[in-house]
Amino acid sequence: MNRDINEILSKYWGYDSFRYLQEDIIKSILEGNDTLGLMPTGGGKSITFQVPTMAMDGMAIVITPIISLMKDQVDNLLRRNIKATYLHSGLSHTERRKVIEKCIYGKYKFLYVSPERLQSDGFLDQLRDFNISLIVVDEAHCISQWGYDFRPSFLSISKLRTVLPNIPVLALTATATPQVVNDIITQLNFKNHKVFSMSFTRENLSYVVRHNEDKLSQIIHILNNVNGSGIVYVRSRSKTKQIATELCRHDISSDYYHAGLSIEDKEEKQNKWNSGKTRVIVATNAFGMGIDKPDVRVVLHYDCPNSLEEYYQEAGRAGRDGHKAYAALVVSHSDNSTLSKRIANQFPSREFIKDVYERVGIFLNIAIGDGYNKTYDFNFNLFCKQFKLPVLATHSALRLLTQAGYIEFIEEIETLSRVIILADKNELYNLHTANNKLDIVLQAILRQYTGLFADYVFINEELISKKFNISVEDIYDSLLALTRMHILHYVPRKRSPYIVYTTAREEKKYVLIPKSIYEVQKERLEFRINHMKKYASNTTMCRQDILLKYFGDNSMPLCGKCDICIDNRKSLTYNDNDVIDGILYMLSNKPRNIHDFLDTLSFSKNKIIDMLSKLVDEGLIEIDSNGIYKKNESE
Ligand code: ADP
Ligand code: MG
Repeated sequence: MNRDINEILSKYWGYDSFRYLQEDIIKSILEGNDTLGLMPTGGGKSITFQVPTMAMDGMAIVITPIISLMKDQVDNLLRRNIKATYLHSGLSHTERRKVIEKCIYGKYKFLYVSPERLQSDGFLDQLRDFNISLIVVDEAHCISQWGYDFRPSFLSISKLRTVLPNIPVLALTATATPQVVNDIITQLNFKNHKVFSMSFTRENLSYVVRHNEDKLSQIIHILNNVNGSGIVYVRSRSKTKQIATELCRHDISSDYYHAGLSIEDKEEKQNKWNSGKTRVIVATNAFGMGIDKPDVRVVLHYDCPNSLEEYYQEAGRAGRDGHKAYAALVVSHSDNSTLSKRIANQFPSREFIKDVYERVGIFLNIAIGDGYNKTYDFNFNLFCKQFKLPVLATHSALRLLTQAGYIEFIEEIETLSRVIILADKNELYNLHTANNKLDIVLQAILRQYTGLFADYVFINEELISKKFNISVEDIYDSLLALTRMHILHYVPRKRSPYIVYTTAREEKKYVLIPKSIYEVQKERLEFRINHMKKYASNTTMCRQDILLKYFGDNSMPLCGKCDICIDNRKSLTYNDNDVIDGILYMLSNKPRNIHDFLDTLSFSKNKIIDMLSKLVDEGLIEIDSNGIYKKNESE
């Protein structure tokens, strides 16, 4: 019996109504249809599977590529008193077994799994014993080789459909070109063509591109002219810090963020930005997944992303509250060649890829024919250093080896330490380990945390150390000793990324990178990069129009608020003397740079530049070597 979905929405989430498309998608699921939902980031995709699952018997299995997001979503559900958990290769064997047992007993409504779990036949078999009512594929564009974020392990999702033939699938994504939509439907074997799509237009968002060789001063200039919270996206970790420092020096409150920071740092930085204590966050694309701040006024791109899909997603984090917001891309002359270089870096030679494969095997000490289905900690930086390998190309080689099905390279370093008590409760309180230190640590854990007997509980060694005055090393050693004694199971926090061997180690000469992964993917990257270049260099077409056409939406009128539309409108309504008057008026009280004119005067950019040089030629104004214009005093 389906329970009323409105009642569920208010009971568990406390929301009074559904957002656009949510109800349509939910109804489609409840009718048993395979369904694809295309909604922008922040549009509320989670509700579209969480609510119907609560209305049905049984559980939903949710496939999602990002482990840190799994944790966020599970925590979120637990807070709403909904039973949920996750399963990924970062968990230990014991942990996984425990989760599966509980699933069989129907203890959860939601099980989040990473796609590489589905490659294990053992796991697929076990699924038959679960009572599953819905399969959800989040970030479904990852299944498409046409997409910008193709994950080969997503292809194994189709196996689920064979194991669970009568269970409906809900695929969700924020960005998909028409090709990717078709790919999702084909790959997931949709029985019908139920696609619900929101328009890609964003009424309140102005797209702007600024050409400037001095990107930093352009960014400072924009941030000084727009109020409110902002994000600056850059492509390297080191730049996040550099630029944030520069912004601070210019009195713009800012902080930096990237995937290499500790979980605590990330959380702190994100909280400060969320609450408005930090105005601007300078970040790599690791920032943003799962953030939900409605009042971002400006998203700036210091570097071009590799595709318009990524650009649209990241830019779209501005103005979710519906108020006016800006998405500005700052480009310089060298960007074109930077983008081209990325193609070469993403596709190193086949020989190089095979070399990397062999060296990984040596580095991890895996014999030929060995390693199948095993997980290894993998210190990427050390690996590159030890074999003197170039970082970018090596990274790409691992990605291609992942896509070719040899390994699964997982970079996330998100796991916290966790503990479960294995010994019986009564036994434990009477237990003395004959080692005082162990007893103290055990008592400290028992006092600090609850729920240790039922499941793995996250612990924080530093906190215990401070509170109970035990050194972190002692805690670590004691917990390992207690693990060996089978009193508890301790999984220390992991900082290192890892590699799962999805095929036993091959000899180098048998390693094959197929055309479909190499040439075809390379061509597709070129296609995406070319579109990105066109967007960046475009001076005539409405920016929103370019984006919409790219996503297959040909129906919308020009936006009227991107820099191109505004420029075009301005050029219709003035004559040269108006421009000259404006310039001279602005220079009457102080010297100015070009951006002051462009931002203040409502004339087209080309016109302003023309009139400035005309005035310089005529000797009415002058420009110094720093690009500062002033009135010619001798006049
Ligand atoms: P997406 O996955 O599409 O990026 P989420 O599912 O994470 O978006 O939802 C974004 C935010 O919108 C969340 O904070 C969620 O609680 C909120 N939200 C979703 N649906 C509703 C609703 N019907 N009413 C109010 N808030 C909602
Ligand atoms: Mg989501």
